[in-house]
Amino acid sequence: MNKITNHLPTAELQALDAAHHMHPFTSDGALAKKGVRVITSGQGVWLTDSEGSRIIDGMAGLWCVNVGYGRGELADAAARQMRELSYYNTFFMTTHVPAIALAAKLAELAPGDLNHVFFASSGSEANDTNIRLVRRYWDIKGQPERRVIIARKNGYHGSTMGGGSLGGMPYIHAAGGKIDGIEHIGQPHWWAEGGEMTPEEFGLLRARELEEKILEVGADKVAAFIGEPIQGAGGVIVPPSTYWPEIQRICDKYGILLIVDEVITGFGRTGNWFACETFGIKPHIITIAKGLSSGYQPIGGSIVCDEVAHVIGNADDDFNHGYTYSGHPVASAVALENLRIIEEDGIIDHVRDVAHPYLAEKWHKLGDHPMVGQTSLVGLMGSLQLTPNKATRAKFAAKPGTIGFRTREHCFRNNLIMRHVYDRMIISPPLVITTEEIDVLIDRATKSLDAAYAEVKAEGLFTEA
Ligand SMILES: *Cc1c(COP(=O)(O)O)cnc(C)c1O
Repeated sequence: MNKITNHLPTAELQALDAAHHMHPFTSDGALAKKGVRVITSGQGVWLTDSEGSRIIDGMAGLWCVNVGYGRGELADAAARQMRELSYYNTFFMTTHVPAIALAAKLAELAPGDLNHVFFASSGSEANDTNIRLVRRYWDIKGQPERRVIIARKNGYHGSTMGGGSLGGMPYIHAAGGKIDGIEHIGQPHWWAEGGEMTPEEFGLLRARELEEKILEVGADKVAAFIGEPIQGAGGVIVPPSTYWPEIQRICDKYGILLIVDEVITGFGRTGNWFACETFGIKPHIITIAKGLSSGYQPIGGSIVCDEVAHVIGNADDDFNHGYTYSGHPVASAVALENLRIIEEDGIIDHVRDVAHPYLAEKWHKLGDHPMVGQTSLVGLMGSLQLTPNKATRAKFAAKPGTIGFRTREHCFRNNLIMRHVYDRMIISPPLVITTEEIDVLIDRATKSLDAAYAEVKAEGLFTEA
């Protein structure tokens, strides 16, 4: 067989892909008919496809390429580490320098007494770790009946059986079932579900569902609550300001552990190292992945507070959990170098002081578009709610996601990667995006919204449910 390279004609690559490659979260048959897009290289915020198109990546891959594509220092760090120690494990009383250095660096960066890191290769795996960590903690504390973890509908915590069960996506639960001992409460999605309430009233109402659920399950049976500071895959849903303080109060009142899933929001996305700082949350565990290595290597983990780590670490028995690649030396070395770049290039200051304010002005102006209702932007994580009637926050009559999908297709055609979640458009660009590149992003987004609006109107789809 010939060597498969980027240089085969696109049609040939597409045919081979359709014949042999099963894609995540995709209907492969439908994709094969349409023809998959082949990405061949990346630099900064730009991708190039096999047809030579230059695409601006408004999603930083899957919310992960925080420092942008093509950073040579990260390639060098990987090559150096592969030559020195390509692999060793951290089981059975051994360790190595990259895992030590990365754990120590994360303890320094993470807020409060989050000083201990358990490594995984992804966010899903890290959340599976968290299920074991919190249940194990309560076992050792002599409260083994505390097993239930409360999460939110339309939350996303990965797609392993554990991560997918913590998440509140019914279509993932339907894909092979859901583990037991996980309960879901409503999400703080004011636009869609807030009715006549103010966002602040609605935020309190949704947070108080946690207390109702704790009382329903029994306070002595709840191990932990898990949530994303801002729901990402759910549609970049920024909670009302009242939500997190009330969640914190309730977790404190009942002594349940608080897990904050920072897989997207960590490492500068919201203008701080962690969104816990942005929202003033004090968690016992935070989940990390994605921006930890800017996607250059698969690595994730759980950063654990002193109390939980000490209880588990000082028990007589082992914590029976781990992955072959926990703390993988190459992934750790790359993550460490990525953190150095974020720090030394002042990337978080760039987000807070330059890119966010510049983008915010233009992003919120998109709210004047006839099809855009609410606009949200925290740091460099934003959403546009599409609606046929802003005043009443109406839904479209068409099946949810129809208009969002149409809009995404126009973005694709205009060489802009902007995703849709049902009828919300979302962005999460690399944190290094410049003001000139923000102009390009906004220009292409505007063009795409205009084209989608014209099409939707012409087809009679600009109608309310
Ligand atoms: C992407 C994501 C995950 C899962 O991470 P993977 O690396 O895909 O397993 C978990 N939580 C959140 C909030 C995510 O966005």
